[in-house]
Amino acid sequence: MTRSLTLIGSGMAGFGLARALRRLQPERPITLITADSGDDYSKPLLSTGFAKGLAPEALAADSALDAAERLNLVMRPRTRVDALDPVARELHIGAERLPFDDLVLATGAAPQPPFAIDATLAGRVFTINDLDDYRAFHAALTALGRSARVAVIGAGLVGCEYANDLVAGGHAVAMIAPERAPLARLLPEPLGRVLGAALAGAGVELHLGRGVGELGLDGGDLSVALDDGHVLDADLVLVATGLVPRTELAAAAGLAVSEAGIQVDRCLRTAVEGIHALGDVACVDGVNAMYVQPLQAGARALAATLAGTPTAVRYGPWPVLVKTPCCPVVALPPRVTPARWRIEGEGDDLAALAEDDRGRLLGFALTGRCVRRKVELARAAPPLLI
Ligand SMILES: Cc1cc2nc3c(=O)[nH]c(=O)nc-3n(C[C@H](O)[C@H](O)[C@H](O)COP(=O)(O)OP(=O)(O)OC[C@H]3O[C@@H](n4cnc5c(N)ncnc54)[C@H](O)[C@@H]3O)c2cc1C
Repeated sequence: MTRSLTLIGSGMAGFGLARALRRLQPERPITLITADSGDDYSKPLLSTGFAKGLAPEALAADSALDAAERLNLVMRPRTRVDALDPVARELHIGAERLPFDDLVLATGAAPQPPFAIDATLAGRVFTINDLDDYRAFHAALTALGRSARVAVIGAGLVGCEYANDLVAGGHAVAMIAPERAPLARLLPEPLGRVLGAALAGAGVELHLGRGVGELGLDGGDLSVALDDGHVLDADLVLVATGLVPRTELAAAAGLAVSEAGIQVDRCLRTAVEGIHALGDVACVDGVNAMYVQPLQAGARALAATLAGTPTAVRYGPWPVLVKTPCCPVVALPPRVTPARWRIEGEGDDLAALAEDDRGRLLGFALTGRCVRRKVELARAAPPLLI
């Protein structure tokens, strides 16, 4: 008899796997359990919606109901799995005990603000990591009935994309981060400064090299106290200080986890037979890229494995395209510390090549018109996972 598949998570990993498996096994019983709405949407679009004034419904490709019908699966939206018992092979959902055959953990990664957010600030301080979050932030913006003053905390990919998107949507944006230049994990500083200048040119007020001391309420305004004594007034705060893999279920069940995610092999298998992990929560043979292309490759490989052909995933040299229209940015960060960054170009059009001590390309970062070089450089760069 065909083993049933239970999937936890309806992000791009969960839906990607369901789609890939359906192509191979149209009839296999699949149950998809998810804490959120279960709507099928593309997460990268979240940071492009405010410039276009997109309502949340416009971002969902399919409602949970339609997606369940199209993929012929049992969908359990707004259902949180509380625990996983790998010995009894059951999930705990409140008092319910749900048996599973094959299980895939696609529980993603969660925002982790570096400071406590007081309950009195609910409805004013946000993270936007899924469609429900987008709905809540969109509703708060709409309720203001005017352009908002938004303080974005964090200058990584997500912070920069939201800052650019919100300012393009007519809002007054301040961006605060301890780094000296935006995108410090993806770009060497000279290229980060190019992006910073472009964001400033687009109207974003930059407070770089600054931490946030405290958030409070001052009359109707939010006050954001910086560690240099500066206080900013804002209507809303958007915290974009990074994501941490949601490994709690796996860790409590005794599966191997690290800060980088649930440890799986190239076939996305944990050490327990029939339990797999995929997407932002999975650390595959030491790598957790937390981008779409790796999870799509993982979904295809895992579908093949679940359908009976054990298949190891491979990751190519896939550059990240940062969605900051004020300054195009592409980056393929090196996996190991390079011997040097060689910087070519001038003005806003820079190419930074990360090289080892023999001059071999390990990764690169591109701004402005140099983003055209991404295909040529990606061909020469080493893959993430061979
Ligand atoms: C604003 C933004 C822009 C991005 N842009 C890009 C981009 O341009 N290019 C790119 O490659 N990547 C981008 N990324 C990253 C990319 O979107 C993610 O790598 C990807 O969407 C992760 O998908 P996932 O399914 O692994 O996780 P998630 O989307 O986080 O999904 C996790 C799912 O698990 C569910 N869940 C968690 N715990 C439980 C539980 N206990 N019980 C039940 N359900 C549970 C959640 O409800 C959710 O449905 C971006 C990310 C963000 C936030």
